[in-house]
Amino acid sequence: MLDIPHIATGNLFRENLKNETELGKMAKTYMDHGKLVPDEITEAMVRERLSQPDTTEGFILDGFPRTLPQAEALTEMLTDLRRRLTCVLHLKVPDEEIVERLAGRNICRLCQTPFHPKFNPFQTCPYDRCTGEHLYQRDDDSPEIIRARLKTFHGQTEPLVDYYCELGLLLEIEGVGDVATVTNRIIAAAKTLTRT
Ligand SMILES: [Zn+2]
Repeated sequence: MLDIPHIATGNLFRENLKNETELGKMAKTYMDHGKLVPDEITEAMVRERLSQPDTTEGFILDGFPRTLPQAEALTEMLTDLRRRLTCVLHLKVPDEEIVERLAGRNICRLCQTPFHPKFNPFQTCPYDRCTGEHLYQRDDDSPEIIRARLKTFHGQTEPLVDYYCELGLLLEIEGVGDVATVTNRIIAAAKTLTRT
């Protein structure tokens, strides 16, 4: 829709592992020992991705940065690459709504599309071999684990709201509403920011 690459850290990890890149192999040694992958490796993957030519007209970062040190590292690498962020979208959703959404979430085992009986009921998957039988619930989508993840979010990620607000980059989006409505809000906001 916006014609710029969507760079999600989860996908970057999967690609680096699949292609057995140096960074992927380094990440794997930590993961094999049940350890967190250090920031330097994640940052190097992002930096490598942002150096590729398809990002010259713009890019969307998703899932990064999640902490203040990562945000500072991103500012530094973008300065090195002579790039800058135009905007940081802050999707505002109350905790209780997040618990309800995630605890009810069903994911398609074949194509990873998320569904929700109330907010986004299963009709059909983009991948036509999927049926309702492929839906499952992730183990970490239990209310207790979601609340623990929210605590981490408030402690580690929420400080980024102030960081990007001070840089004049923050754009707040009302995240409550059905999927299509919120998507349209995001696209409308993003379109004012891209050059086309
Ligand atoms: Zn599917």
